[in-house]
Amino acid sequence: MSLHQVEGIILRVREFGESDKILVIYTKEIGKIDAIAKGARKFKSKLAAATQQFSHGYFYLYRGKGMFLLGQAELKGSFPRLHGDLERLAYASYLCELTENFVPAEESQPEVFYLLRQALEKVNNWEEYRLAVIFFQLKLVSALGYKPVVDHCLNCGKERFSGQLFFNPLQGGVICEECNKTVRGKSRPLSLNCSAVLSHLQNTDWERLTVLKVSTETKEELLAHLASYINVRLEKRLKSVEFIKKLKKMPLA
Ligand SMILES: [Zn+2]
Repeated sequence: MSLHQVEGIILRVREFGESDKILVIYTKEIGKIDAIAKGARKFKSKLAAATQQFSHGYFYLYRGKGMFLLGQAELKGSFPRLHGDLERLAYASYLCELTENFVPAEESQPEVFYLLRQALEKVNNWEEYRLAVIFFQLKLVSALGYKPVVDHCLNCGKERFSGQLFFNPLQGGVICEECNKTVRGKSRPLSLNCSAVLSHLQNTDWERLTVLKVSTETKEELLAHLASYINVRLEKRLKSVEFIKKLKKMPLA
């Protein structure tokens, strides 16, 4: 059996057998893996703390014939505010579910690992956490080869927009009013504001993101456009998205 020492974030946990857990871990070194944590549900297990969803830590794994076996785990960060705030928790689950469904198994992409880690930190401790989710959506799909077209019409290439703009998830980005009449796929109107923020986000980083001011309406619109863009690429609906939708209909307590 070979030993792997990795830094990772737990994307998903499911119970297994009497006291074990099966973990989906996104690691910096070997990408997305499944690992079994024997006895991790026992009250006194040393693995308990580091094997919760969102746990960020160092993991010592053995590779047998099938999935990885978790030997030891050392917790590095756990994003405590997520558990006291339903909306933050829902968005953090969305980040993890998106990562799990988008990244290929056992393929290392450190930039995607850092993106997820930063996004979870921001969802945990930043007031503008929805902007962090939007940034994550955009950067994740771009890193995995699905960068949407946002600064010109994807059909005619026009850069200076006039008239109503549209966002076409199937075609993969922004489309001008004229082209929208003929291009296939369902489009939804995109505000000029939204299109400007999208272009800006594609060329920014976390540091500059934190000084950006975006209205609540624009954030809602961006989240919806990017979620539909992602749905088309994933060809499935994510559980966390359904939860977020339900949550937003709930009256504030
Ligand atoms: Zn056009």
